[in-house]
Amino acid sequence: MPTLFTRIINGEIPSQKVFEDDAVVAFRDVNPVAPKHILVVPRQEITRLDQVTDDDEALLGRLLRTAAKVAAQEGLKDYRLVINNGAGAGQSVFHLHVHILGGRPLSWPPG
Ligand code: AMP
Repeated sequence: MPTLFTRIINGEIPSQKVFEDDAVVAFRDVNPVAPKHILVVPRQEITRLDQVTDDDEALLGRLLRTAAKVAAQEGLKDYRLVINNGAGAGQSVFHLHVHILGGRPLSWPPG
């Protein structure tokens, strides 16, 4: 079964895409928790951060670099990147993704 995000990447589920290349796709979160809330997702189905292997570690750099590019494209100077790893940390979709959050002051520590 393809993941929800694979179905979004393939266009089976509508989304507002803001970036895509051969390895990574970024689209707006359907339930934003900040004025700018974008998900940066690898095309490759990796369930969660701790399942990334050494063979795939370059993909992590690609995800972070893409997140920075997308944030700049969105006009964000200050923003937060979040990866929830596991249900106890808030992960609800088990296809690795980076949240870009911005457009409002972000407090620390997060909840
Ligand atoms: P996480 O809880 O870290 O796994 O993040 C999953 C994110 O996916 C949540 O912020 C959801 O709001 C978001 N999401 C769920 N379904 C969709 C969808 N169809 N389109 C865009 N974002 C979605």
